[in-house]
Amino acid sequence: MALIVQKYGGTSVGSVERIQSVSERIISTLQQGHDVVVAVSAMAGETNRLLHLANQISEVPEPRELDMLLSAGEQVSIALLAMSLNQKGIKAISLTADQAGIHTNNSFNDATIKHIETDLITQWVDKGYVVIVAGFQGRDDQGNITTLGRGGSDTTAVALAAALDADECQIFTDVDGVYTSDPRFVSNTRRLEEVSFSDMHALAKSGAKVLQEHSVAHAWNSSVALRVLSSFEDGEGTLICENPKQPLAVTGLALKQDLSLVECENISSEEQAELYKQYRVLNERCDCFQIVVPKATFLQLKLAFDTKIRNISSLSILTLVGDNVEGMAESACNQLLANDIDVHQYDIEPKSVSVIVNQADLHRAAEILHKTFVITEQSQDNDLLVAVS
Ligand code: ADP
Ligand code: ASP
Ligand code: MG
Repeated sequence: MALIVQKYGGTSVGSVERIQSVSERIISTLQQGHDVVVAVSAMAGETNRLLHLANQISEVPEPRELDMLLSAGEQVSIALLAMSLNQKGIKAISLTADQAGIHTNNSFNDATIKHIETDLITQWVDKGYVVIVAGFQGRDDQGNITTLGRGGSDTTAVALAAALDADECQIFTDVDGVYTSDPRFVSNTRRLEEVSFSDMHALAKSGAKVLQEHSVAHAWNSSVALRVLSSFEDGEGTLICENPKQPLAVTGLALKQDLSLVECENISSEEQAELYKQYRVLNERCDCFQIVVPKATFLQLKLAFDTKIRNISSLSILTLVGDNVEGMAESACNQLLANDIDVHQYDIEPKSVSVIVNQADLHRAAEILHKTFVITEQSQDNDLLVAVS
């Protein structure tokens, strides 16, 4: 008998029918003889709906109150899922993050889990209950509700799996695994059977939202066996592990959208140094420089700097990830230029190469880089493996 932590994302619990289907999936795991602890997201669209309500009152709401509001979505879905299991004759109890003992720091809107007191969860599991924990939330030392950043239920699940020493952490979502790029945006993507923690971390950090970046870091640090699966169909999904059986020269292409190119003028050197620490710098002249910031952050900067900053255009970043990508930067840029796509900047890091393009060029750029560098390289890896075996 194993202890499995399962996480169901927003689309997976997006309606009463979907919640009923998730409870059937939990029941089938119980029937295999396993104990199950579940982390659940808010129903699809709910967190955005709450955010929109807040923004009708304030463009930049007070962070503590925003967390109080946004955490409400998960409280609805945990209760509905527990009711659905109860209705099917299964013992289940829902717990908010506070009740489940999830302690975080006090960085509202982007808190980090410090530790989890597992006593209560373990007591319910020992009594034969499915324990359903609200994802995305935590409590700080003062008892305030915090949230873990968008997509944070993945991190709740991994942290629970680590704290409970679970045998596997299964992330159920609306795709059947991790693909070579976002399968909803790029054509001819392939599902990967296994991905290393380091590559998955680089992909998530660069915008592959199938897993939240912090969840991968936490799983990597705690050696949690992590699997991404579909809640809509059965399958093996993708295992995120230390050493994949089939290492790839290029693992995938991550996309980050909704970035603003922001021009800053007449800013003090201290403030400039602070901005340089946080954001990528694109151009600088004596009294003027340009930085790349997430669109969501622009309003906060505007509040602080007012007329000293302005939004110039929308940008996107594409990042190739894998063991052998570092030497591909130049030819990636040349490919894009040959297709009339301007590259504002490229950056080489260990195991990743990223290029900044205009948002309007993102789709075409993604198709070109994915086809030329990911699919072609992986076919060569496969040929090599066949030749060796
Ligand atoms: P959930 O609500 O279950 O947490 P998310 O929307 O956060 O689901 O993440 C799943 C989505 O991630 C997919 O629908 C897909 O569009 C996107 N995605 C981005 N990059 C990838 C990738 N490399 N592989 C799979 N999905 C990806
Ligand atoms: N409900 C939160 C969000 O939409 C957390 C999550 O889905 O993981 O970001
Ligand atoms: Mg998610």
